[in-house]
Amino acid sequence: MAVSLDIAALRAPRPDGIDLTATQGDGLGCHAGKDAMRAAAQAAGMSETLEQYRQDYPAGPHDQPQSMCPAFGSLRVGLRMRRTMTILSGSACCVYGLTFTSHFYGARRSVGYVPFNSETLVTGKLFEDIRDAVHASAKPEDYDAIVVINLCVPTASGVPLRLLPKQIDGVRVIGIDVPGFGVPTHAEAKDVLAGAMLKFARTEAESGPVQAPRGGRSERPAVALLGEMFPADPVVIGGLLEPLGLSAGPVVPTREWRELYGALDAAAVAAIHPFYTASVREFEAAGRPVVGSAPVGHDGTADWLEAIGNVCDVPRETVAAAQNRLLPAIRGALSAAPIRGRITLSGYEGSELLVARLLVESGAEVPYVGTACPRTPWSEPDRIWLEERGVIIRYRASLEDDLGAFAEFRPDLAIGTTPVVQKAKEAGTPALYFTNLISARPLMGAAGAGSLAKVVNAALANRPRFDAMRDFFEGVGTGHAAGIWQEVPQAKAVPKARAPEKPVGEMV
Ligand code: SF4
Repeated sequence: MAVSLDIAALRAPRPDGIDLTATQGDGLGCHAGKDAMRAAAQAAGMSETLEQYRQDYPAGPHDQPQSMCPAFGSLRVGLRMRRTMTILSGSACCVYGLTFTSHFYGARRSVGYVPFNSETLVTGKLFEDIRDAVHASAKPEDYDAIVVINLCVPTASGVPLRLLPKQIDGVRVIGIDVPGFGVPTHAEAKDVLAGAMLKFARTEAESGPVQAPRGGRSERPAVALLGEMFPADPVVIGGLLEPLGLSAGPVVPTREWRELYGALDAAAVAAIHPFYTASVREFEAAGRPVVGSAPVGHDGTADWLEAIGNVCDVPRETVAAAQNRLLPAIRGALSAAPIRGRITLSGYEGSELLVARLLVESGAEVPYVGTACPRTPWSEPDRIWLEERGVIIRYRASLEDDLGAFAEFRPDLAIGTTPVVQKAKEAGTPALYFTNLISARPLMGAAGAGSLAKVVNAALANRPRFDAMRDFFEGVGTGHAAGIWQEVPQAKAVPKARAPEKPVGEMV
């Protein structure tokens, strides 16, 4: 049904703080001007949230890397938690894309959606609809928590999730704003939700007794692990901590609400992935020291054990004994699985620097690492180690940076995001997807030391096949001849640049 609206009324300040300017013109998606969306959000009273994001997730040196919709990170964290309902509030096209991607990645869980149109946004009914949906879903027999995620337009319009009840019959309600114009990557959007949950759980723990961990408290002090990682990695890290008299604590983002209390109760926190700024803030508020980098390779493990020992008051001799016991196995695994070749590396998971360290220790030449994540204190040990070995690191790397590095360094193997891999393969260079093939392997300790070599060496050995394929298909199906044709395709003259179109006026 077409809805006719009064533009002057849309622009008028609203008593409930909702601002509709973000829904006007071509303002309904990521293709709309980010500045316009941001200005609309500020006008709608979201300045404080945006300023916090600006501090937590600094954008420079590039504005924003090309990435999927950031909200996917928050959605994924919610969907992976037991007894947690996740509800999206946003444009239907955004929700379609986000739910599609969730199920592509095996969510096996329903995603809640509160749809809106201009009318429900204008009248404030959208907020009422969200509140009704939360009340209807808050069943303590089914859920510990309900997460509501405001996407771009509701955030830019100031739909006030902060006014939702904090709890309904013991079910916590967490409302977060995750706009593409405020949170640069989906990695950092994981932190937005993890940080909000830690804050909630910390407040609960400060005001009274909370649930114990499902398996009971560990006898040894625990180290909470920050960052989604391959399932074997926390087990390996537990083995590395054992000779220090410590244990591996919960992994944040957690899979269950009660694990949040266990994480906050840990003796220290290992920021394995370096972009969890809001989560670190909560851990520090709970008095927990945070250690950066990770036990990757020989040097990384040696330094990490020492740093963890320092913050957990482990005697120096105990740390040295652990290093003497553990490091020879890692060195042995590295030398048993050498990698020979030049590799460029880029990704958006946050573990790019760690993977680069492993590759370098395995013998590879790594001239360039691009990461969509920002530079933070928790990846500084990795930056220093890599730069001492001549590696160029680009934070907030754009696709152009990654492709430029590929052209400049002519690697034997490109590890990267989908468009980088596509470009490399087109050029006849073996390439591996970072997310699917590298992130999905153990990286820590001795298990990680040899795990990359198999897949990397197999890919490096593929070069002759790429050469043969390139020779065979040379000139076929590229440029004007790409696609399926009934007749032999003809190259067309390149049309002259068109004058810019006139603006088409406001859309209602
Ligand atoms: S919610 Fe995501 S898909 Fe939708 S407009 Fe924002 S960034 Fe784009």
